[in-house]
Amino acid sequence: MRFFDRALVNGRSIRVRSTEETDGDFAIGDADHQLNARRRLVVDRPWVWLTQVHGDVCVDVDAVGLEGACGAPADSLITRRTDLALSIQTADCIPIALWSLDGVIAAVHAGWRGLEAGVIETTTRSMRAQTSAALHAFIGPSIGPECYEFGAEDFERLEARFGSAIRGTTSDGRSALDVRAGVISELLRNHVVIDVDDDACTACAGGFFSHRARADIARHATVIWIEES
Ligand SMILES: [Zn+2]
Repeated sequence: MRFFDRALVNGRSIRVRSTEETDGDFAIGDADHQLNARRRLVVDRPWVWLTQVHGDVCVDVDAVGLEGACGAPADSLITRRTDLALSIQTADCIPIALWSLDGVIAAVHAGWRGLEAGVIETTTRSMRAQTSAALHAFIGPSIGPECYEFGAEDFERLEARFGSAIRGTTSDGRSALDVRAGVISELLRNHVVIDVDDDACTACAGGFFSHRARADIARHATVIWIEES
């Protein structure tokens, strides 16, 4: 499991955890009914989760409540509540945790479709509606360009939007997409400070589930919450 802790103002702190293969399957609806037990091992409090759809919708948990947020078709969650954990499931896509020092937190699921749809911008806009403090980001493990061959048809559009850094090369010399570079570009364009950029590749680093490399249906969880201590 990846760990990241950071002090906020008023004695609070944020905790970010990003699970690995040995932590088990965090896919929604996992068949062996051990999901809640695995979640409790990461953090024992209610988890907010989404039915991820590669779109741009950010769900404000404080507006819709825990019941309204869980399972909503969206790719981003935001809250000020200190009694919940916000979670995202991935296996190659990019999990992003965001926070402000005064305690607005968010969790974002970003593949290239969500990135292009603008999920990072809708999330940072929602956060800025609630705080004027600087926003910070944790970027979790995802598939690297060396393992992500990508067809040419979408490239020009994505490059025009996110810059030439999204053009990568696979380990065997084919055209590849560097989604992480696009995510970084979009975070910086939205004036987010990137505190952690974990560039471990879910396809080839070992110890991760990979949808693309191994057709894994299991998912990692990336979770952010606030500790009051
Ligand atoms: Zn790789």
